[in-house]
Amino acid sequence: MKIGVLALHGAVIEHIQTLRSIGVEPVAVRLPQDLEGLSGLILPGGESMTMRKLVARWNLREPIMALALSGAPILGTCAGMIVVAKEIAGGEEPVFPLLDVTVERNAFGRQLDSFETELPMPILGDRPVHAIFIRAPIIERVGPGVEVLARLPDQRVVAVRQRNVIAISFHPELAGETRIHRLVATMAAAYAEPHEGAATGNEPWSPGEAR
Ligand code: GLN
Repeated sequence: MKIGVLALHGAVIEHIQTLRSIGVEPVAVRLPQDLEGLSGLILPGGESMTMRKLVARWNLREPIMALALSGAPILGTCAGMIVVAKEIAGGEEPVFPLLDVTVERNAFGRQLDSFETELPMPILGDRPVHAIFIRAPIIERVGPGVEVLARLPDQRVVAVRQRNVIAISFHPELAGETRIHRLVATMAAAYAEPHEGAATGNEPWSPGEAR
């Protein structure tokens, strides 16, 4: 089972190392053919508008949308969260309109440009996540069917999931945090080897199917 990391720009190597550390074979995705045979894809942090331009330039938009719509797990971190949102506050065009949320870029202003905090994220167990925020976005609107996975103490939403798409504002890959990648790997394994009774094997993953 292979999981790709979009490797055009941003915090690529850290995701690749995190995947390796949990025994998953990572694939650096630069061209459409790199997506072949993948069971999941990580969209890293960086600068979302740069990512938008590079995705268009290398013709990756359609094949990444197709992979996501086939039900393969997609994890977007920070800028990766911005590019999977259906709506970006301020009216910028979405890149991969997958997740029914409105995301606000650079939501913490100058003083809190970057900060770290211990964040409860019940889906990962009792131990909180050490969350590193770097010019991070927040989710300001959560659509129906979108599950909130983590909030800041002031209740702002910083991690969500809608079926096979997970988006988080912070950078687990910079904190030695592997549980989110493990969750994606579990989803990717289910996608790669659909359980018995699945009609086509390509239905989007849903929380009820988790073992
Ligand atoms: N501020 C960046 C953007 O708007 C995201 C920052 C990050 O990925 N660390 O795209």
